[in-house]
Amino acid sequence: MAGIYIHIPFCKSKCYYCDFYSSQDISKTEQFISSLLIEIEQKKNYLIDNETIETIYFGGGTPSVLNPKQIQEILSKIYTTYNFSSKTEITFELNPDDITEEYLMLLKKAGINRLSIGLQSFNNNMLKLMNRRHDVKQAINSVKIAKNIGFNNISVDLIYGLPNTNLDFLKDELDKIIKLDIQHISAYHLTYEDKTVFKNYLEKGKLRELPDTESQKQFVYLTKFFEDNGFEQYEISNFAKNNLYSKHNSNYWFGVEYIGLGPSAHSYNKQSRQWNIANVKKYIAEIENNNIFYEKENLTVNDKYNEYLLTRLRTKWGIDLNYIEKNFGNMYLRHLISYVDKYLNLEYIYKQKNIVHLHKNYWFLSDKIISELMKTI
Ligand code: SF4
Repeated sequence: MAGIYIHIPFCKSKCYYCDFYSSQDISKTEQFISSLLIEIEQKKNYLIDNETIETIYFGGGTPSVLNPKQIQEILSKIYTTYNFSSKTEITFELNPDDITEEYLMLLKKAGINRLSIGLQSFNNNMLKLMNRRHDVKQAINSVKIAKNIGFNNISVDLIYGLPNTNLDFLKDELDKIIKLDIQHISAYHLTYEDKTVFKNYLEKGKLRELPDTESQKQFVYLTKFFEDNGFEQYEISNFAKNNLYSKHNSNYWFGVEYIGLGPSAHSYNKQSRQWNIANVKKYIAEIENNNIFYEKENLTVNDKYNEYLLTRLRTKWGIDLNYIEKNFGNMYLRHLISYVDKYLNLEYIYKQKNIVHLHKNYWFLSDKIISELMKTI
């Protein structure tokens, strides 16, 4: 079992909080697709044991800048290059302003069976502040169109912890999101990333970060609200109804191999990790000239142990002590247990048989705890 992530590196404009790699020069799209098709071919032996592809994820950037013919071209190349399962989850990220009935019908026809729509907020002033291209009406309408067409695995993104917000603001957002009656929600606390407009605003005093106590309050309220409304929190930022977890993202947390395609995309095959150059022009040029366009690091046992903790402790699946012993040895197990005992006493952590879980209310503070459990040698 393995996954494919395709980074579509274009956005019509840049959202002020976003640090994902994207270019606003959409004129390079055709050249990019040609390079991408070459990369798909080049990576055909990347997976150990020629694993079957069970998830494909179009992310970005903005995949919805592509036309249906381009999407079909990419999928056809993937189908003819890799082994894939007939049950493959194929997710496509969209912005509400790109959604039309005709476009979604063509996506469905191309085999896309899961949508991830970037709504982010239900407040027009906030959408403007974030430099989103859509308004609330378009956002709600985009979900209605997707449902009418027959998509029954829809995820939407929400950002909370926004500047100058409080619980009343959040309650209003949550009441609106729940009315959409969709299957999956990804809710992320706003972070002020380097080189973003929001970070610049923060440094100049134009925006103020929420106090930690307010952020924590919003997180606890939001998780309870979603659980009361039939969603299961299966990862710090992800909530699903009826076990409709994102298979693609869950596989990352289970250490499943994946191939990353396109500028800035990461690939992982259990032995090494590599990441493509985060520049569309250079990506195209290097592929055209048959040059290396990625950096690579071989993973040590220590790297693998730390990644296991990092990815699993913020999920409902927790850390399996048997797995640690079997895969990393007794030294790592003893290191882990010494810290686990400390947090067991503080009641941040609980154990069920051999599985160690972080209490959900502390997921929000998980960075500090995980960094202690990690091993540095
Ligand atoms: S949030 Fe999405 S649409 Fe906005 S700039 Fe980032 S990748 Fe592009």
